[in-house]
Amino acid sequence: MKKIYLFIFLTLGSIAYCQKDLPKIIVGIVVDQMCYDYLNRFGTNFSQNGFNKIINEGAHLKNMHYNYIPTYTGPGHASIYTGTTPDHHGIIANDWIQRETRTQVNCVGDATVYGIGSNSLYGQSSPHRLSKKTITDMLKETYPESKVVSVSIKDRGAVLPGGQQSDGSYWFDYSNGTFITSSFYMSELPCWLDKFNKKNNAQSYAKVWEPLLNPEAYSAEDDSPYERILRGKTKPIFPYDIKQLCDISGSLTPFTTSPFANTLLTDLALRAIKKEKLGKGSSPDMLCISYSSPDIAGHAFGPDSKEIEDMYIRLDLELARLLNSLERSFGKSNILLFLTADHGVVPVPQKLIDDGEKGGYVFIDQLINELRNKSINAFGVDFILGQDNLNIYLDYQKITSSGVDKEEILNLLELNIKGKKGIKQSAKGKELEKLETDDGLLKMLSKGFYPTRSGDLLLILEHGYLPKTNLSVEPFKGTSHGSGYAYDTHVPCLWYGMDLEKIEITRRLAITDISTTLSKILKLKKGQETGTEIKELITAD
Ligand SMILES: [Zn+2]
Repeated sequence: MKKIYLFIFLTLGSIAYCQKDLPKIIVGIVVDQMCYDYLNRFGTNFSQNGFNKIINEGAHLKNMHYNYIPTYTGPGHASIYTGTTPDHHGIIANDWIQRETRTQVNCVGDATVYGIGSNSLYGQSSPHRLSKKTITDMLKETYPESKVVSVSIKDRGAVLPGGQQSDGSYWFDYSNGTFITSSFYMSELPCWLDKFNKKNNAQSYAKVWEPLLNPEAYSAEDDSPYERILRGKTKPIFPYDIKQLCDISGSLTPFTTSPFANTLLTDLALRAIKKEKLGKGSSPDMLCISYSSPDIAGHAFGPDSKEIEDMYIRLDLELARLLNSLERSFGKSNILLFLTADHGVVPVPQKLIDDGEKGGYVFIDQLINELRNKSINAFGVDFILGQDNLNIYLDYQKITSSGVDKEEILNLLELNIKGKKGIKQSAKGKELEKLETDDGLLKMLSKGFYPTRSGDLLLILEHGYLPKTNLSVEPFKGTSHGSGYAYDTHVPCLWYGMDLEKIEITRRLAITDISTTLSKILKLKKGQETGTEIKELITAD
């Protein structure tokens, strides 16, 4: 008898649990270029309602890493949202050389679509190069009533999270300071966005950027030789009159380099929740937000700048505003939110050099020219088609017509790369396809390798090194990312909402685990994720 009661109790219990187990709204937040250590470095200046609220009342995954090379924005967003790596989803970089056309293509660039909300070229974006389904696609396949909206300053920050079935993916149009989309998604902007754009645009949000807190609150010096100087400024110091800088440069880049772009984006996200009635339907809806400005400013000023410190102090307040609004509208138990980053960043290499630490620059154009000459000397032909993202592409047309063995060319190039300062190792594409080593960096490189899009020879730089091209704006100032080292791979990962209580997870996790876990929590149809479920986050049945 007891057994029967117990059986009934368990059955009823699990039904009740299932029904209330789905959140009304899922919010994915990606901060573009956020190193894990920012949570500690800037944490004392954060409020109690933003990052610290999630850390204190949610899950703090302290050891989340990218598990492939290269760590860029396109692959980052694609990997977070598909739960797979570039060798599966095909987004191997932001831009790469397309062999068929022998030109550089952008990961979301699509000449077959046109802008909606603007006639500018910024509208020509779609997820057509993303070859795996996103968690947002799977949400809609499982629950046809679910809505998906994604917003970002960068097109790729909105397009890749939204997947193939997004109900609206919106990004910033640098030609006029408003949010647009493409004909891939719709034929005209929703009314609410038209209205939003009229009042809430770059011009109306651009103000004078001053440090938010008192001078003693900041650890960084304002004036440093490692920061780029924005056009119209003579020193890299506060205040930044953003409106004036936009006028001087004749572009909206100073605006997207400022925290005011984060405010505009948060306002867009809140408006989208309201006007698209997200979280109000019978199935869970999903909103994806990607904050691009920390990356744009991070490239210019570097992670040790006062500008970046202030950027994050202000971003924390945007997060607080968003959390507060979500909680008021839905209540904690009806929200599921995660926050992570698409990659970290390396300190300005020139600073590493000056501080006597390991790091520096590899002058990549110079190196490629040397290799071209070696190829001409040995074979009478320059067999290099080009270089992008430390991938060297060979010219297959020339190889076919000359009859020279591809392997021989690659061996010559490898021989001449060996021992060059700043280069740790090289790997042939073919080797990466059937890699039999567990060597960390090589393994990561192979997970970022997609045969029809990647190069024939790939380089791995030493710790602290960045490739430098002849096009580099201001030599030895500013910085970048892309490597497989912890400064680029280790990112924050915070979860909040539903029945999550404070928990810290210190074991090492991979970025692909996020969507793999979400899929389980949301009880989605099996997608194409290759990560591992983070069991601590699944309270399951
Ligand atoms: Zn970047």
